[in-house]
Amino acid sequence: MIIGSIISGKERNEKSRTTHEVKNPFDGSTVATLALSTADDLNEAVEAAHKAFENKMKAMPAHERADILRKAARLLGEREDEFQQSITAESGKPVKQARKEVERSKQLLLYAAEEAKKIGGEVVPMDAAIGGDNRLGFVKKTPLGVVGAITPFNFPLNLSLHKLAPAIAAGNTIVFKPAEKTPVTGYKLVKLLHEAGMPEDALHLIIGTGSEIGTPLVEHEKVAKISFTGSVPVGKSIQKAAGFKKVTLELGSNSPNIVFEDADWKDAAERIVAGGFGYSGQTCISAQRIYVHRDIFDSFTDELVRLANNLKIGDPADASVDIGPMITEDEAKRAEEWVESALSKGAKAALKGERSGAMLPPVILTDVTDDMHVVQKEVFAPILAVIPFGTEDEAVRRANDSIYGLQAAVFTKNIDRAFRVADRIESGGVWINDASTYRQDNYPYGGVKQSGIGREGVKYAVDEMLELKFIGVKLDGGPPRV
Ligand code: NAD
Repeated sequence: MIIGSIISGKERNEKSRTTHEVKNPFDGSTVATLALSTADDLNEAVEAAHKAFENKMKAMPAHERADILRKAARLLGEREDEFQQSITAESGKPVKQARKEVERSKQLLLYAAEEAKKIGGEVVPMDAAIGGDNRLGFVKKTPLGVVGAITPFNFPLNLSLHKLAPAIAAGNTIVFKPAEKTPVTGYKLVKLLHEAGMPEDALHLIIGTGSEIGTPLVEHEKVAKISFTGSVPVGKSIQKAAGFKKVTLELGSNSPNIVFEDADWKDAAERIVAGGFGYSGQTCISAQRIYVHRDIFDSFTDELVRLANNLKIGDPADASVDIGPMITEDEAKRAEEWVESALSKGAKAALKGERSGAMLPPVILTDVTDDMHVVQKEVFAPILAVIPFGTEDEAVRRANDSIYGLQAAVFTKNIDRAFRVADRIESGGVWINDASTYRQDNYPYGGVKQSGIGREGVKYAVDEMLELKFIGVKLDGGPPRV
């Protein structure tokens, strides 16, 4: 299959283009050949999206936008298998987890259909000001224009929809650049949204690398907003290059999970194993730093090891498999080096297998120190660092000792402690009695510190894709002053 940009509904996959192969991370087979977009394609896409905003989307009624989103949810429901297979083939995500991604994406589209119809405004009490009598003031929410959506490799359907669905709900037009490692699902998604009724000139797909096609999208003066999900270094460069545009950045993390001695710690271990090793830890809120009270440290670590040993490793297309390959062999080697480096500095492996190509079996490390990469940086691999603590203050201080702050977890049966710790943790979200990795798509989601700027979660993303416009009226007459 050769796939290329889709600009105003027309695919650009001529043989003369520079090509790039998308490989299945498990067996190295070719999933698709990409016909890469050029700077001219990008320019054409932005110009067309800009025109479509002025001529179409700006005036499209909310009920029509909601219809598009609802129809897209229905079409996705009819093509669940196709989308699951596409996610698994290009990202190496095991079937079980790819199915969940599709299921969540259907719900996300339906939330967006509902939000499209809730975009209102408010009346301003003008008479609060001296001189404001006999004036009427109200605030409307208006769409922004062209949204540039740039997405990472790890959730090619769900994270793309976290940008596309709110943009449609808000009445914007879109130029979408999926990750070059996993663009096939995004390509299918654009076609599905066109079929659902999104005007072809209002949603364009461009395919290519960040430097070649992402940067010009970020810099384009007719793009009103960049919505980006990806790594911290790229997020920083986007923030600099975007100039006056609005920017949402959903970046990385090294999520802390704190387990107190009074927790249902067997349940906590189960959730942390699922949350730390699911999709080989390649999730932005993957459980990574596990702080465990000293009194239960040994039993808890043994339980983690026992549960991790039960995970089935293998072909992600096999529905019984829990752990497939990492996205590339280079990434698996990078993660392995971080483990080796930690071991050379005194860490101990409670669990560790042999890497084979891109397949990295789960690793559980103890005796780590805060300066090790596996603690300090975003590990983005199936590696847990299990760290003992003595007091609540120590657990909170160490959890907060990070440049990141996306989502965290605290496990305890003590309700006062649960809320106290949740309040003290510096992150965009905290789960009590579930792992940091749990997410659903209707709550505000985003980071503090270097984990990002702004929030997604459909309602909140819609808000960030709207402009506030004040309209005031000076009325003649009105009731006499008392
Ligand atoms: P990445 O930053 O390498 O790439 C993300 C996207 O940015 C890709 O489409 C890439 O082509 C593009 N890009 C790269 N350089 C660019 C540039 N200079 N200008 C414009 N675009 C550019 O990330 P990745 O490896 O695909 O994904 C993994 C990262 O994403 C991890 O750090 C993870 O934590 C993060 N992530 C965050 C969230 C979240 O919601 N906070 C969710 C998933 C992943």
